[in-house]
Parts: sequence; C-alpha cells; structure tokens
Amino acid sequence: MEQSALLWPPEYNVKTSLKAKHVRLTICKHKGLEVTIPNRVKNFDILALLEEKKLWILKHLAAKQATPISIPNNIKFPLIKKNWDIIYQNIANKKISIKTYVISNKLIISGDLTIQKSVIAALIKWCKVQAKLHLPSLLSTLGTQHQLLCNNITIKNQRTLWGSCSSSNNINLNYKLLFLPEHLAIHVMLHELAHIKHKHHKTRFWDFLTKLDPLCDQHNKMLRIADKLMPDWV
Ligand SMILES: [Zn+2]
Repeated sequence: MEQSALLWPPEYNVKTSLKAKHVRLTICKHKGLEVTIPNRVKNFDILALLEEKKLWILKHLAAKQATPISIPNNIKFPLIKKNWDIIYQNIANKKISIKTYVISNKLIISGDLTIQKSVIAALIKWCKVQAKLHLPSLLSTLGTQHQLLCNNITIKNQRTLWGSCSSSNNINLNYKLLFLPEHLAIHVMLHELAHIKHKHHKTRFWDFLTKLDPLCDQHNKMLRIADKLMPDWV
C-alpha cells in the first residue's frame, strides 16, 4: 500500500488480535500504518488515537517515503546459512535471467537492467525458487520430529503472513522466511505445525506451541518487528 505523508488521516489497516494486551500502532514498508486492537476492546476510537500520535505517524511515514529501494550486491539467507554475491551484466533489450553458481556462491544477473522493477522481480522470483528448494524439507523434518504431519506444503509471497495452516493441514510458508534468523523461522514453522493439533489461537494452542518452542513468547514478540530484518527490496 502506498502511503502519502501529506494525506490526513492516512490510510491504515486494522487488525484485531487475541494476543495483544494493548492497542498498538505500527508502520512497516509492506503493511504501512497498522492499528492492532485487542479482541476484548470494543468501539475503539481509532481517529482519536491517530490525532494523538499525529507527529510520530507523519515523521515515520515521511521517512518511509524518502528511503529509495536499492538493488542489492548480495543476498543473505541466515536460515540456510547461505550468502550470495551478485554480479550484474547489463545487456540492452535482453530479458533478465539469473545464473546460480553454487560452489562460488555467486549469482550473475544479466539482461536489460535499466528498469529497476524488473531486476527486483527477477530477484524475488529467484528467492522463491530457493524457498521451494529448502523450506519444505525443513518443515517436514520438524513435523516428523514432533509427529505433526501436514499434507501439502506451498511457498507463497503473502504480504502480511509468515505462514498459514488450512483446515485440511496444508501449510503455506512465506518465501521471506529465508531472510529470518533460524530461531524465528523455526518458530513460524512450529506455529503452523501446532495448528495441525489446534486450529485456533486459544490458550491450549499457545501452551502446546510453548512445549515445542520454550521461547515462544520471546520469538513471537521478535516476529512483530521482523520486517526490519528484511532487505528493502523484498
Ligand atoms: Zn496461527
């Protein structure tokens, strides 16, 4: 969502949460301004809150707009401990392609590189291929370890979700998990696997997840700000 710092009130998303203890305002590049409201809070006056926090909101929305997206020189996947250096070769009027050199950990991106959007689209496509290569086997290993077996695993590019588990135990994982530190990506996978047993976010679910991941609360809090760990181009 594009935000304009000049518009007031700005565009915002509202999220209701069973876990949140207080009303929370967040600004991130993917979701923009978001207001999280605990489920138990009814008829909350969002506009009054926006007025109260106007200076903070405008400052952060303006900073977000002013930061241009950069083309990366390398890609780091902490989860699978891989680090790729990127070499760019501009060839006019040629479709962009990416060659992967596994042994030297290099990517060669060649083609018409003058349109930044196309370069980034090609990079994201490449990341999704890497995610398909690595994330399903990691999830299956964890599932086997905890005797939580899912059906299909698909890799998606959801804007606001790290993962999801359907009623028929199909699990979707976001390719961006590759960019998270291992403990947080594993936490997301355990969260989705825990839904095989509990299809809700009630206390029983969190108790069960805490058995799988004793640092569950801490990891959950870290995930809320994990957008900051993403490169600006993803
Ligand atoms: Zn969940």
